[in-house]
Amino acid sequence: MLRVENLNKTFGDKKALNNISAAFPEKQTTVIVGPSGSGKSTLIRSLNFLERPESGHYYFDDQDIDLSKRVDNKTILGVRRRTEMVFQGYNLFPHLSVLQNVMEGPIQVLKKNKREAAEEAHELLAKVGLAEKADVYPTQLSGGQAQRVAIARSLAMHPEYIFLDEPTSALDPELELEVLKVLLQIANEEQSMIIVTHNMAFAQQVANKMIFVEDGQILFDGPVKEFFNTDNQRIVDFISAMT
Ligand code: ATP
Ligand code: MG
Repeated sequence: MLRVENLNKTFGDKKALNNISAAFPEKQTTVIVGPSGSGKSTLIRSLNFLERPESGHYYFDDQDIDLSKRVDNKTILGVRRRTEMVFQGYNLFPHLSVLQNVMEGPIQVLKKNKREAAEEAHELLAKVGLAEKADVYPTQLSGGQAQRVAIARSLAMHPEYIFLDEPTSALDPELELEVLKVLLQIANEEQSMIIVTHNMAFAQQVANKMIFVEDGQILFDGPVKEFFNTDNQRIVDFISAMT
């Protein structure tokens, strides 16, 4: 299981993460919510070493990474092999077809042979509802389709965890829905995920566990049912402002 303890991250005089501790259970979806600027992206990016907290511990199963010490590249690559980040923008390779985008990681990193990689890429594209788009190029896709390719591409790496930071915030509601459906399906298949979202209805559907962050601190960490039934007025106000 992935877990962090006492993470601190400062930008100038802003404490983006103020002693954050949290666990992210396997086979579950943890949803992180909170106001703009509260530290959600900093937290999820820290989990993939895209941000480097000044102090704290990062635990991955038996591995204990002390973030106040220098972390070597091998350790970082090790974590990145076991995790995949899906961004707001889609970061597809523009010069590769949709199929090639999904095959690239498995061939280059996992050293799969082409035939095997292609076979699985076709399966994953079918799973995200894009079987017929295998041979087109990313510029010919809608935003929602591109994001589903990005999700297929991350699944092709068989990560233990997938991190998604506002995966649909760039999309119109109609396109958003098709991406959320895919994420719900993946969550039902017990892919471990950590998702930052502002979409409360989606959070309620997809989450096993909710984390509410405000001002770099965790105000709530618990089961989704508890979150949406809390009598903590701050959270009640937040949920009603977001819905
Ligand atoms: P949003 O919902 O708007 O995406 P967020 O919860 O993801 O917000 P973060 O992006 O984690 O918030 O930012 C947390 C705080 O850290 C904010 O005050 C932000 O201005 C600051 N911050 C984040 N990244 C940087 C950076 N690279 N340089 C300076 N300040 C930063
Ligand atoms: Mg953010």
